[in-house]
Amino acid sequence: MKKVILFALFTLSFSALSAQHKTQNVVIVTIDGLRWQEVFRGADSAIINSNDTHDKNDVRKKFWTEAAADRRKLLMPFFWSTVVEKGQLYGNRDLGSKDEVANPYHFSYPGYNEIFTGFPDKLMNTNDGIYNPNMNVLEFLNKQKGFENKVAAFASWERFSQILSPQRAGILVNAGFMPLEIAGMNDRLKHLNELQLEAPRYISDSTRIDFLTFEFAKNYMMQYKPRALYVSFDEPDDMAHAGNYKFYLDRIKQEDGFIKQLWDYIQSEPAYKNKTTLIITCDHGRGDEPMKKWHDHGSDVLHSEQTWFAVIGPDTPASGEMKQGETTYHKQLAQTIANLLGFDFKASHEVGEAINSVTGKK
Ligand SMILES: [Zn+2]
Repeated sequence: MKKVILFALFTLSFSALSAQHKTQNVVIVTIDGLRWQEVFRGADSAIINSNDTHDKNDVRKKFWTEAAADRRKLLMPFFWSTVVEKGQLYGNRDLGSKDEVANPYHFSYPGYNEIFTGFPDKLMNTNDGIYNPNMNVLEFLNKQKGFENKVAAFASWERFSQILSPQRAGILVNAGFMPLEIAGMNDRLKHLNELQLEAPRYISDSTRIDFLTFEFAKNYMMQYKPRALYVSFDEPDDMAHAGNYKFYLDRIKQEDGFIKQLWDYIQSEPAYKNKTTLIITCDHGRGDEPMKKWHDHGSDVLHSEQTWFAVIGPDTPASGEMKQGETTYHKQLAQTIANLLGFDFKASHEVGEAINSVTGKK
């Protein structure tokens, strides 16, 4: 009798636990080096009026209007329609919402290590091709029942072949100009392998342009239906380092459109609809004082720890733009992703706590 009651209690609490989350899949998108200033204020008039902007009239026509609340819609229409209406946006310092990286370095490898391992490891102070010893949340998910071989990452920058340590992690990582090689892949994916050999390498030999990364990720998603997908865009950071504000803005708008396509697909496909959470963020901020510092980021660049992130999904309350509250850190995103899927991410290193306002838990 006692056993029966215990069993009933166990069944009850277990179903209560699983009922707590609706998220069955996650899609994570990062936009390298996109500043919160542009996300929340739109294009910056001082930079448009400086030598960093060529073709000023074209830029004003596309991205300028007086009120910041309207201007940002011109730059990121998907964010400022769908995400603000049905999701959450963190990091608008003008409203007192602060989001930051916890690592002291404020550049890419340490930033991505922090997002995916939940651990702002001081030893990860390089953009060199060293294998990341820290376990990441994608690797953790790939070990969970129902997620085996259902975890994939597509990145413009080849360094993700080290950041995510795919050999150890056992997950698919397609990064840089690496061809995609999977048995049974469809003609669209095969054609992308050919296309990327012909595409201009105008960023560098280590970084392909983002539309290729997007097309690989989208077509892979459609054919293989991964349960955890990561898409990593790079171009805004490259354009900012080059001091080219027109291209920086153009590429941001392009990425917003790519993310819209992913979300539209998610909500049109029964395998994903109403059970998939989309998380969008960046790896670091950039400077803003003096104005020219928008080119740069790093431990010596003031305010480049300041970042942002956005979430839309079935468990995340539709709070829109967040105001005030505690500062959030990117080291919290790994556990937040795990919790959304009903898991507790444990690793041999410390892991930042989940953000409860995202997961919908008290
Ligand atoms: Zn950079």
